[in-house]
Amino acid sequence: MENIKCAIIGSGPAGYTAAIYASRAALNPVVFEGAAPGGQITMTEQIDNFPGYPEGISGFGLMQDIRKQAERFNADIRSKVISKVDLSKRPFYLQDEDGNEYMAQSIIISTGATARWLGLESETKFRGQGVSTCATCDGFFYRKKDVAVVGGGDTACAEALYLAGICNKVYMIVRRDVLRATAIVQKMVKEKENIEILWQQKPLEVLGDDSGVTGVRLISTKDNTTTTDIDVMGLFVAVGNEPKTELFKGQLELDDEGYIITKPHCSYTSVEGVFACGDVQDKRYRQAIVAAGTGAAAAIDCERWLLENPLK
Ligand code: NAP
Repeated sequence: MENIKCAIIGSGPAGYTAAIYASRAALNPVVFEGAAPGGQITMTEQIDNFPGYPEGISGFGLMQDIRKQAERFNADIRSKVISKVDLSKRPFYLQDEDGNEYMAQSIIISTGATARWLGLESETKFRGQGVSTCATCDGFFYRKKDVAVVGGGDTACAEALYLAGICNKVYMIVRRDVLRATAIVQKMVKEKENIEILWQQKPLEVLGDDSGVTGVRLISTKDNTTTTDIDVMGLFVAVGNEPKTELFKGQLELDDEGYIITKPHCSYTSVEGVFACGDVQDKRYRQAIVAAGTGAAAAIDCERWLLENPLK
C-alpha cells in the first residue's frame, strides 16, 4: 500500500494552492483531483476579481496556472477520485475508485461544493434535456433561443450575462424583489437589453415533451397562488451550492448544512491531522481568492502539525 505524507483530496483553488505550499514545505503532497479537475470555478467564463490578473482570466485558465505552479514544485497531481476514507486512526486510510489503497499521515480536504438543484420532479426529468446548472457548458445549444435562469446571486447573474450574449432572450426568475448579487454585477444585468427579470417568482414545474424543455410554470411568491407560463427551451438553475462532504459523514464534525466545521482561525477539523480548506468549509465568502488563501493556511497548519506529531 502506498504511503503518503500529505494527501490532498480535491483540486479547486484551495487544493492546488495547498499543493503549492505543501510541496514547497517538502511534504511531498499527492493531490487526488476528483471527477472535476479544477473544481466548480472551471465553469466560470471570466474571473475579474482574482488578484494578479488585471485583464481577468477564465476559471479554467486560472486553475491551469495554479496547477502548473504546484507542479513546478513537484506536487504529484493525479486524476483520481477518492471514494472511501477511514479517519478513525492514523495513518488514515484512503481508497480510490479503481480500488487502489493508500495510507496518509495527514489529509487536506478541499472537495469544494456543487450546484444545488431546486428539487422539483420535473427538473430531474429534464436534466440534460434543457435543464442545466452550467451555461458555459450548455449555453451553445440555445443559440438565438429563449432561456431562463433561476436565482438572483452572483452565479445566476453571471450565467444570465453569458447567455445574453448567445441567446435571443434571457429571463431571470428571482424569488424576492431584490438580487443577492454584487452591486456591479446587478448593474450589468439590469442594463442588458435582452435580460428580463421576473421578480417574486419561482419555478413550480418545468414543462416539456419528448424534445425536451418547452417552458417553465412559475408561481408568484407574493400570493403563492398566481401561476404564469413562460416559453423557454432551456432552464439554468443557479440557486446556490452544497458542500461535497458525503465521504466524511459520520467521521468529521459537519454543520447542519453539511459543511466541515473548522476550528476558529485555522483549518483544523474535528480529527487531528485532517485539515479542510475552500468551499467545503466556507459558506460565508465562497470566493476563489478566499479558497486559495485557506488552501495556503491548511498546508501551513499541516506542515506544523506533522512536525509536532511525527508518525512513530
Ligand atoms: P447565492 O449567493 O447563495 O445565491 C443563490 C440565489 O438563488 C439567491 O438569489 C437565492 O434567493 C436563490 N435561491 C436559493 N434557493 C432558491 C430556490 N429554491 N428557488 C428559487 N431561488 C432560490 O449562490 P451563488 O450565486 O451560487 O453564489 C455563491 C457564492 O459564490 C456567493 O458568495 C457569491 O458571491 C460567490 N460567487 C462569486 C462570483 C464572483 O465573485 N465572480 C461568481 C459566482 C459566485 P434569495 O436571495 O432569496 O436567498
